[in-house]
Amino acid sequence: MCAYPVLIAIGALFAYKYTAKNTKLTVENVNSTYDYIIIGAGSARCVLAARLSEDPNNRVLLLEAGGEETDNANISIPAAALSVWNTLSDWIYSATQQRNSGFAQIGDENRHYWPRGKGIGGSNNLNIMQYVRGSRYDYDEWEDQGCDGWGYDDVLPYFLKSEDIRIDDLKNSRFHNSGGSLAVIKDTVFFLFGIVLLMEERSWIGFGGSQVNVREGARGSTAAQFLRPSMGRSNLHVVVNAHVTTVVIDNKVATGVAFIKDNRKQIVSAVVVDLPVGQNMENHIYSFIPATMNTSEGLTGPKVESLSSIGQYLIFGTGPLSTTGLVGTAFIKSSKCKTKYPEIQCHLLATLLIQELAKYSEK
Ligand SMILES: Cc1cc2nc3c(=O)[nH]c(=O)nc-3n(C[C@H](O)[C@H](O)[C@H](O)COP(=O)(O)OP(=O)(O)OC[C@H]3O[C@@H](n4cnc5c(N)ncnc54)[C@H](O)[C@@H]3O)c2cc1C
Repeated sequence: MCAYPVLIAIGALFAYKYTAKNTKLTVENVNSTYDYIIIGAGSARCVLAARLSEDPNNRVLLLEAGGEETDNANISIPAAALSVWNTLSDWIYSATQQRNSGFAQIGDENRHYWPRGKGIGGSNNLNIMQYVRGSRYDYDEWEDQGCDGWGYDDVLPYFLKSEDIRIDDLKNSRFHNSGGSLAVIKDTVFFLFGIVLLMEERSWIGFGGSQVNVREGARGSTAAQFLRPSMGRSNLHVVVNAHVTTVVIDNKVATGVAFIKDNRKQIVSAVVVDLPVGQNMENHIYSFIPATMNTSEGLTGPKVESLSSIGQYLIFGTGPLSTTGLVGTAFIKSSKCKTKYPEIQCHLLATLLIQELAKYSEK
């Protein structure tokens, strides 16, 4: 039985329930000038737009190439994460042909499929919702390389400001905080293993239960938790289906952007700040190792599609549909590792995701 039609129907209802009060807040026409123009309404820039527009004196424009995340009902359902891949909410990139990796990729020869989110929410709409901060070493290394103000002790207050920890054991930890916009929970739908919590919070090395961004059973994206609640502000204009094509350069200074919307090119100007961004982009490769377990626990199609599951989700926002399937996480430093921080990340997914991945791979 295919889970998608059921998931889509539930998603439509749930997305409506969750976002209806905040829809229709995008604008069609832009002003000629703003204080800040933000290109792309992805994970980071939803937060940026929300924070900048907290000051009513800032006029902020957010231009997004894709549509509204509410167009794809499955985005809000944690258990349906993989069904968002390879849809209109995904740029559907593939990497260049590789000589030494990508052998297990289905389809094009040795090219990694490279999902990237398109639309309000960006890649946050198709990710697995795991909440992972970088390790202390990541930030301290940035600072050592000249990024003053980006060391771990500098960024920690901002993590704390954003966080709304909903894991009882961590509520009194000095590394966590309550009351921020970003809900962090432990996915408790399936307790498959008695995972030993060895994670050491300072070094991020060891094994632990996964922390995920889910709020009241819905994907806790930065779009839902930061941008949407800010979209009623008169000083924040959010435009969708607006593909930025050019940064306008005047006498070697960026003064605005050109974008295409409804087949029409428009130019909008901004206050000038020179920030070299986007350099040294890196990504990690991943590989799935599927395993079948002799247990009735886990996220199976019949369990997800059962009437009790659907009812539980619609009424309480809990149950199998509210789970990401992420059970455990490990950060490991191999004997070959030359850095202070771990270089291998493992995730234990007890989930429909693997089954859906198999379907996806067969396409
Ligand atoms: C499959 C997958 C699973 C992942 N799982 C996790 C996880 O569990 N936990 C985790 O922490 N991270 C995860 N990540 C990583 C995380 O989602 C990304 O690092 C993060 O979303 C990147 O945020 P961003 O703001 O930099 O970019 P994005 O969120 O990708 O946003 C970029 C935005 O810019 C828009 N855009 C691009 N070009 C233009 C243009 N020319 N004009 C206008 N708009 C434009 C895009 O449409 C998009 O909305 C995952 C990523 C993927 C792909």
